Amino acid sequence: MGLQDSRSVSSCYMDGSSISAGLASIKTGLDILKALKDAGELAEEAANQYRLAELLGVLTEAKLAFIDAKEEVLEKDREISRLTELMEMRDAMVFESPYCWLVKGDSREGPYCQKCWEHDGKTIHLVDSSTAGKWWCPVCQKNVHDENYTPKAARPPRRASRAIRW
Ligand SMILES: [Zn+2]
Repeated sequence: MGLQDSRSVSSCYMDGSSISAGLASIKTGLDILKALKDAGELAEEAANQYRLAELLGVLTEAKLAFIDAKEEVLEKDREISRLTELMEMRDAMVFESPYCWLVKGDSREGPYCQKCWEHDGKTIHLVDSSTAGKWWCPVCQKNVHDENYTPKAARPPRRASRAIRW
């Protein structure tokens, strides 16, 4: 990495690799400074000792600022990935009454709860019940019936038990 790098020099955005490069430069500066200080020649005069200590403090602060910036960039990258994934999912989610499917090429995944997706952006798999065509959302607790569902016939009224005559 260097000035020949293809990235724009005027760009305000620092990505993770440029921050890492900055951190490496600061670490090198700190190492050189410590070596100079240990050699003792530069640090003989009190004024030089003060300047060296000041420089060490400034470089240490810069190092900490770079570490913070790197964490911020990583956090933003994670947020961008999350939003990109959500946008891709919005394009791929198809509503086929009464539920949604996530279409990926020739395959599709689901079904998902339409209410949870459209209200909260959550992809909640519907749970297949033992009754054909009847699905249940574990989050919004809603039942969904598709075309395979046949409502049970109303129960015949219970026959009044015959009174036992003795
Ligand atoms: Zn739901």
